[in-house]
Amino acid sequence: MALHVRGVLLPDDEVRDVWLDGDRVTFDPVPDAETVADSGFVLPGLVDAHCHLGIARGATPVTSLDQARTLARTDRDAGVLALRDAGSPYPYPELDDEPDLPRLARAGRHVAPPKRYLRDIGLEVEAAEVTAAVTAQAAAGNGWVKLVGDWIDRGVGDLAPAWDADTMAAAVAAAHAAGVRAAVHTFSESAVEIMVKAGVDSVEHGTGLSLDLIDLMARQGTALVPTMINIRTFGGIAAAARPKFPGYADHMLALRDRFPEVVRAAHEAGVPIYVGTDAGGGIDHGLAAEEMLLLHEQAGMPAVDVLAAASWRARQWLGFPGLVEGGLADLVVYPEDPRRDLRVVRTPSRIVLRGRVVR
Ligand SMILES: [Zn+2]
Repeated sequence: MALHVRGVLLPDDEVRDVWLDGDRVTFDPVPDAETVADSGFVLPGLVDAHCHLGIARGATPVTSLDQARTLARTDRDAGVLALRDAGSPYPYPELDDEPDLPRLARAGRHVAPPKRYLRDIGLEVEAAEVTAAVTAQAAAGNGWVKLVGDWIDRGVGDLAPAWDADTMAAAVAAAHAAGVRAAVHTFSESAVEIMVKAGVDSVEHGTGLSLDLIDLMARQGTALVPTMINIRTFGGIAAAARPKFPGYADHMLALRDRFPEVVRAAHEAGVPIYVGTDAGGGIDHGLAAEEMLLLHEQAGMPAVDVLAAASWRARQWLGFPGLVEGGLADLVVYPEDPRRDLRVVRTPSRIVLRGRVVR
């Protein structure tokens, strides 16, 4: 049955009636539609632009489709109705169009340097094999590839780029040649400089960004998905590493401590920022609201910009149209204006996915 919703539609900020006819949005009245909300603030369904449905708690690979489904439902029940999987060792293309799961933009496996990244998670390749691996993982995903741009190099005792600059630039070019976008994990200053200059499409974390690189990202339209929840775990990473790698530990703490100012500067410069939790492994699913609050409270992003980063702009970026004529029938309703008090995003009063009521 068609659904009817009335409320203040964001971002337009007007009281409107909207109908959900199957999986399509229309502003033409549909007879006999069931009214499922008649007040409140209505947004296109939220997006977690960086999470992992194929990585279980403890950073081990998921081993069944049902396990991935359970993680996806946790996000859905928090109002996240589309997500970008930023790399998974367990493939799950079968879930792309499953009616009760969020919409999926997926990378294949992380393409990572040998013997440095999380065990069993990435596809670990030497420099000479990187472009072939990117091409294969582009085919395994549905629009993205994920590169691990840096990680600790135990020989150096600090973060270091995954491969040389030419190889990393060739990896981005291989993704684009395969018709997909490239996302890169970076913590360090050196790797993010290589990757932004190589034209990567999105920087994940980006703790090492300088003001000059931020300006270049703004000019290029390079996205930043800060995952502030993840960066808050750097203290634990540093403490565990300190006995063997004190320089790395200090570096991680310095990156953590400057990060809110990096995100603030990126936002002020006009870098497109999206909400991503990095759920999977060390961070639970369902925490998009907490990431939104960190962007607002720690990085100073205005609430309406955080909402754009979690909803309409993120959907547009990933190709999932929102509350426009013919758009996709995903929405969340909040009882109060989230622009006035963002904390209401923790408690949606209504969630509708693909034209079906979730809550
Ligand atoms: Zn991640």
